[in-house]
Amino acid sequence: MAQETILVIGGGIAGLQAAAALREEGFRPLIIERSAEVGGHVAQWDRLFPTQLPAREVVAPLMASAEGIETATGCEITALESIDRGVSAIGADGRRFEGRAAVVATGFDLFDARLKEEYGYGMYENVITSAELERMFREGRVAMRSGEAPRRVAILHCVGSRDEKVGQNHCSKVCCITGIKQAIELTEALPGVQVTNFYMDLRAFGNGYEELYRRSQVEHGITYIRGRISEAGETQDKRIQLKVEDTLVGRPLRMTVDMLVLLVGMRAPKCCGSFGLPRQANGFFAPRDPYTGTVRSSIPGVYLAGTATGPKTIAETVNEAATVALRIKRDLL
Ligand SMILES: Cc1cc2nc3c(=O)[nH]c(=O)nc-3n(C[C@H](O)[C@H](O)[C@H](O)COP(=O)(O)OP(=O)(O)OC[C@H]3O[C@@H](n4cnc5c(N)ncnc54)[C@H](O)[C@@H]3O)c2cc1C
Ligand code: SF4
Repeated sequence: MAQETILVIGGGIAGLQAAAALREEGFRPLIIERSAEVGGHVAQWDRLFPTQLPAREVVAPLMASAEGIETATGCEITALESIDRGVSAIGADGRRFEGRAAVVATGFDLFDARLKEEYGYGMYENVITSAELERMFREGRVAMRSGEAPRRVAILHCVGSRDEKVGQNHCSKVCCITGIKQAIELTEALPGVQVTNFYMDLRAFGNGYEELYRRSQVEHGITYIRGRISEAGETQDKRIQLKVEDTLVGRPLRMTVDMLVLLVGMRAPKCCGSFGLPRQANGFFAPRDPYTGTVRSSIPGVYLAGTATGPKTIAETVNEAATVALRIKRDLL
């Protein structure tokens, strides 16, 4: 069994952890990543909830643990085929890879905020996404397009999640706590800034999340309003005018801010249509058994890890990716 090749499709944190664990179990993993670099989405974040640890302190050790593992970058896998004693993965560029098994760790895509036209993303220069705010934090400069620092910022929850109109009915799970974390970081980066989060429900489900939510209010003065922004418009001086319904008091509200941050949800990647794997109603790949077999797919030899099966935190992703190696070892013995 030793040194059998296992294909790992996707080089985000799930793929890196799965590959490292597979090598420890005596396999020869081969990572296939569509981008030029491995690391996936987490490599694009600045500091992480719940502790505000720099993202590089999570990504760098994972990369180090996968050092020396054969990696094909710049190759998007578009199809999987069962072959005699294994699986074949076919790239968009025609490359073919064969292994005894494959781990699908293709992660998620960010919701395209332009689809929610009422918020003006792509039209108004000071409407940005949470991913773009992470980039500003990473670059050490949070600014409006004019270069000025914003003094009033609104953060809108559930953009492209829990929204039947755009066909994304699921909760993306990590964006409430991301919005809380980003609100705190805005007050740290821009002393005196006023931050208001608009939410439908606050889902602070994880360890330490509720505490962070409370701290954001008590220590950082963040305001939370239960309500949905029905419309955003641009003023002549490029600020953003919001029409909101405060659903707790049942009153309409108008507010003008310098910057609007849209907490974009996690959606199933558009690619991978031809992997032949069943999907859940939310579009993410379906595990064979959602209780006891979350890393097995319904196709023998094809396994799943990380956010390929739905929104997850880093800890959940990494734990699942470590489990997949043990599952494969047990199945192939
Ligand atoms: C704005 C935001 C902030 C977040 N902040 C935090 C945080 O602070 N703390 C926390 O715990 N979690 C956070 N998360 C969640 C975290 O990003 C995920 O848990 C993590 O990215 C999941 O890793 P993954 O490897 O499953 O997927 P991804 O990071 O999406 O990686 C998937 C990889 O697969 C590659 N790929 C995709 N399709 C193919 C293909 N067909 N062929 C080859 N390669 C392919 C992609 O290029 C990518 O490199 C955040 C999420 C969002 C949206
Ligand atoms: S985690 Fe919060 S912001 Fe994200 S979809 Fe769920 S309720 Fe909305």
